[in-house]
Formats: sequence, C-alpha cells, structure tokens
Amino acid sequence: MLKTVAAFDRIGEENAFAVLARATALAQKGRDIINLGIGQPDFKTPGHIVEAAVKALRDGHHGYTAANGILACREAVCRRISTMTGEDVSPDNIMIMPGGKPTMFAAIVMFGEPGTEILYPDPGFPIYRSMIEFTGAKPVPVPVREENGFAFSADETLSLITPQTRLLILNSPANPTGGVTPKAEIDKLVAGLADHPHVAVMSDEIYDVMTYDGEKHTSLLTYPSIADRLIILNGWSKTWAMTGWRLGWSVWPDGLIDNVRKLAVNCWSCVNAPSQFAGIAAIDGPQDQVAEMLAAFDRRRLLVTERMNAIPGIRCATPKGAFYAFPNIKDTGWKAKKLASALLEDAGVALIGGPDFGILGEGYIRLSCANSEENIEAAIIRIGEFLTRR
Ligand code: PLP
Repeated sequence: MLKTVAAFDRIGEENAFAVLARATALAQKGRDIINLGIGQPDFKTPGHIVEAAVKALRDGHHGYTAANGILACREAVCRRISTMTGEDVSPDNIMIMPGGKPTMFAAIVMFGEPGTEILYPDPGFPIYRSMIEFTGAKPVPVPVREENGFAFSADETLSLITPQTRLLILNSPANPTGGVTPKAEIDKLVAGLADHPHVAVMSDEIYDVMTYDGEKHTSLLTYPSIADRLIILNGWSKTWAMTGWRLGWSVWPDGLIDNVRKLAVNCWSCVNAPSQFAGIAAIDGPQDQVAEMLAAFDRRRLLVTERMNAIPGIRCATPKGAFYAFPNIKDTGWKAKKLASALLEDAGVALIGGPDFGILGEGYIRLSCANSEENIEAAIIRIGEFLTRR
C-alpha cells in the first residue's frame, strides 16, 4: 500500500467541476440540462486574440520563454494595470502564470505551514481553504455576510489577526456572492494593517472589470503603505473569456518575486509562448467584445435577481460584481446542497450549493450568469416549479 504525505488527506476540490461532470453525463444520456453551475464566460475568446496565438506559432514561438514571462507580455500587463488603477508597476514585479489559481497556490505555499494562520473569505473561492489546509496552516474564515452586501468587514477582518497570521486573502468583486467591497471599507482595512506588519495580503482581483450600477472596483495596488507585502492575483480567464488558455498574471513585491520565479522554474518552467502572445493582443487590442460581454452579464444578473425574488421562500440580493448571484434559500426549508443536487437530478438545472464555498454558504445557492437570458429564464421557471411541487 503506497503512503502519500498527510497533506493529500487534507487537500480539497472545487465542486463546480464535479457538478459540470455530472451535468455533462446527464446531458449525454439525453437529459435536457441547463447549466448555471460553471464559472466561465459562455463567450468565445475574441478572434484577434486567437489569431495572435496562431501567428505566434507560425512565427516559430515554440520554445521555452523566461520563467517569469516574455518581457513584452509583462509590459502589456503593466499598461493594463496603469489603465485600470493609475499605478505604475515595473515589469520586474510581474509574473506571468498558467492561470489565476497558480498565484493562489504560490502565495499560500509561500506563507502556510503548521503553526501559522491564513485568513480567507467565507463564503469564498473553495481553493483558498483547500490550499491552506494542504500546507498545514490553520484556515481562519473571514465571514462575508449578506446583511453587509456581501462585502468583507474591515473591523471583523482585523479582529481575526493574531501573531500567527501570515497571510490575508481578499477577493472583490467576489465569487460566489457577487459582492463588491466599498472603498471606504478597504481604506479602513489598510489603515488597520499598519498595526500588523507581519501580515502579507493576497488580493484576488480576477473580476476587477466586472462591476455594475456605477460600483467601482478598488485595487489594493492603490495603497502604497502595503506595497511591500502585497500580492495581486489577476489574469485573462474571465475578462477575455480565456479560461482554457491557462493564462494569468500576478504582481509581487521585490522581496517575494524571486520565490515565485523559482517555483515556476521548479514546476511549470513557463507559460506556453502562444498564450502569452495572445495575452498581449487581448490587452492592447479592441475591447468592444469585452464591453458586449459585460453588458450581457449586467442584463442577466438583473434578470436572475428579479426572477429568483419572485419565487416564494427565496431572497436574492442584486449582485454588484462578477457574474454570479447568491440567493438565500433558507425559507424554502431546503438544505443548500440537497436542493442543488435535487434541482440537477429532477429539474435539470445545474447550480452549486453554497456550502461548497464555505461553512457560511449554508442557506444559499450560487447561480452563474454564464448562460443566455433565454436559458436563465427557463432554468428559473424550472426552479420555481420544482419548489412548488416539492
Ligand atoms: N479567483 C477566483 C475568485 C475565481 O473565481 C477563479 C475562477 O473561477 C479563479 C481565481 C481562477 O481563475 P483561473 O481559471 O484563471 O485559474
């Protein structure tokens, strides 16, 4: 019997992939399934981005690149950061990563070990907790509450910091709640962090462009007081509908960038070259298809909110960002995961139960707006009918 290290008894998963597999299996058996489970845009990568990758291959970019990424790609990321935040970042502090998740992995393994604590949002992206557990660090959930508009609270976050805290993970706009934390709250958090210089911050800003109703995303990069301990996670997956390209970027302070570069050298060497050329085209090319996608997500989140609120027992806050809604189902009497599974098996609607995003996710389900308005409407009719029937 082979014995692997204990860390593999603790590593978790992302249930969205299991739901996708089950939904696909049911569809292959001929069932009519509407998928509101998956967190990837239902749009195609814009054509000029695809062409840039094809051209890169034709031009002979078949080999390894620098571990931290092609300089032109890192420079493009700096232009993007400047456009989005007004901040100047050096390409020396940029790391091109194989997606958004590897930045999480790198930051969490850099700070987590037995005896340390890492703060993460709950409900939040499930890989945060999974990776924290993997390292042996203690996962400390920071509650993200519906009554607070699914923003994190600066006071509550600061109150959870101890001398053992090494890393604080933030995510706004947020998965799975669609919450956007207001600037005033971030100001307060950053001011409070001055008393805790031993705590690094990883800000997951992968949904930065996806805010609605005039809501503005505040990047943690705009706070010079924490610049020497700040890691920014971002990437191409969501903004340019590029989830399968495995292309992300992160910003690292001088003291940490060499660690992550060495991790790359030891693990994935570099991101494939054509994807990096595609990444440059995405940043520098026309943004009209991004704008169309955002307008579609905006319409869909309003549709989801309106239709879900019309179902007795369901209360759905209007998402302010990302492309998810996180309705409260407590008054239906259902447990969230049971409901998600019954909806898939009986009603043919794939969505995710809130507990897959943390303990505080009980009583909620996550609906992804990555499907057409027609399908969203049909799915919500099915949900309403199912709840009336049962
Ligand atoms: N961070 C958050 C909050 C996400 O929701 C996701 C994907 O769903 C990621 C990171 C990972 O992105 P990628 O697919 O680029 O690894």
